[in-house]
Amino acid sequence: MEKELLIYVDGEYYPKSQAKVSVYDHGLLYGDGVFEGIRAYVGRVFRLEDHIDRLYRSAHTIMLEIPVPKEEMTEIVLETLRKNNLKDAYIRLVVTRGSGDLGLDPRKCPKATIIVITDTIRLHKGDPKENGITAILSWVKRDPVDATTHEIKSLNYLNSVMAKIEANMSGVDEAICLDKNGFVCEGVAENVFIVRDGEILTPPSCTGALPGITAASVAELARKLGYTVLEKNITPYELFNADEVFFTGTAAEIIPVREINKRVIGSGKPGAVTRKLMDGFSKMVQDPNEGTSINK
Ligand code: PMP
Repeated sequence: MEKELLIYVDGEYYPKSQAKVSVYDHGLLYGDGVFEGIRAYVGRVFRLEDHIDRLYRSAHTIMLEIPVPKEEMTEIVLETLRKNNLKDAYIRLVVTRGSGDLGLDPRKCPKATIIVITDTIRLHKGDPKENGITAILSWVKRDPVDATTHEIKSLNYLNSVMAKIEANMSGVDEAICLDKNGFVCEGVAENVFIVRDGEILTPPSCTGALPGITAASVAELARKLGYTVLEKNITPYELFNADEVFFTGTAAEIIPVREINKRVIGSGKPGAVTRKLMDGFSKMVQDPNEGTSINK
């Protein structure tokens, strides 16, 4: 029998089938918690520090006290990878409010629960990087910045799940959410970029999109390659008429989008700029300066 993955839960490692949290955990009862999706490539965790910083910013916003300092959290992630002997992995780091009573008051939860899962992830069938994916603009608007904004990487993903259901029902791969003003915001778990006349544009944070670590890495890479990258409000019209559209995300990496609401984007094939960035990004994730070594 294949050896089960070991999952970290509050200081202990459990085989996958036995890793559990309480049914009184407010992460389950109320989506009260924060998380990160992180990747390791060839023995190094890509931009781990940025992910740890973002986790603590999300926690700070919802006044969730993470019971370990950042250095220890970093070590927990690395040790879980070592325990599983993984060099390439998708890592899910979750901190819930912890166990409380059945009321939603967080004061009833004395200690946060920390979970680290190191596994793999696959978002789409086939070869999305080669062929591009299809998407719809979802009727589900992104939660606004003055509510459960996705700037907080919280366990409240129903907004994304509903948009994804809409994509599934429409027979396409992904959904793109608009903000409450009708501007393009982001995918269900990806940031969106468009290429227009050689310039690269992405929605600003005032749309409520998560400040993506892949998006920041790709913007850096694109600027190094000589492209202008701008944060700008993007309308559905501009999206439909872009030369190229692509998604970025830890799980997604870079994925070209070839069709949105049946409108063909550009040539209908991954464009030249997207290809260049995909190529550069696959080198970037293997760069020793971009990752924290798993084995110190
Ligand atoms: N937006 C949302 C809502 C997400 O969940 C994610 C995935 N973390 C992203 C964007 C992409 O962010 P990152 O590149 O940091 O994974």
